[in-house]
Amino acid sequence: MKKLTENKYYYLGNVYPMYMSLDKSLKKVTIKWVNNSFHCASPFEGEIDISLALKSFYIKESRKVINQRLKIYQKNFKVKYKSFLIEDNDKRWGSCNSLRSLTFNWRLMIFPLDVVDYVVVHELCHMLHMNHDRSFWRLVGKICPNYKKTMEILGTKKTRDM
Ligand SMILES: [Zn+2]
Repeated sequence: MKKLTENKYYYLGNVYPMYMSLDKSLKKVTIKWVNNSFHCASPFEGEIDISLALKSFYIKESRKVINQRLKIYQKNFKVKYKSFLIEDNDKRWGSCNSLRSLTFNWRLMIFPLDVVDYVVVHELCHMLHMNHDRSFWRLVGKICPNYKKTMEILGTKKTRDM
């Protein structure tokens, strides 16, 4: 198994090794999480582009991780979110509409879990406050006291929507 070294591969805030192997029985490049490292199997010999496979990996993981985090933070609310979707949108980290349907960006999977948690809490708080007024931020701060630091990591400002 060859180790890829030209890039850094992140998962929930940490860098992990990416191992490559050849598997001609596969139809496409696939990435799995094995023993705290990425294992990429490809049916093609030679140089390959793993970015699509990595994106599929993050999308699958984000469904699992965000579902878990939503279950934990939902306990802070009397109203319940309706559903959530993982989306591919480089303009926002998440959203919540008036029907309490939530979306989350799969790119969140490269950040530490407390960053993921902040976005989860942010969108859940929109179930009660649709805009970013004082009472919205008070509620966010009650559940995520360090949210200002987290926003710096995400590069978002208090005024910008998530
Ligand atoms: Zn927002």
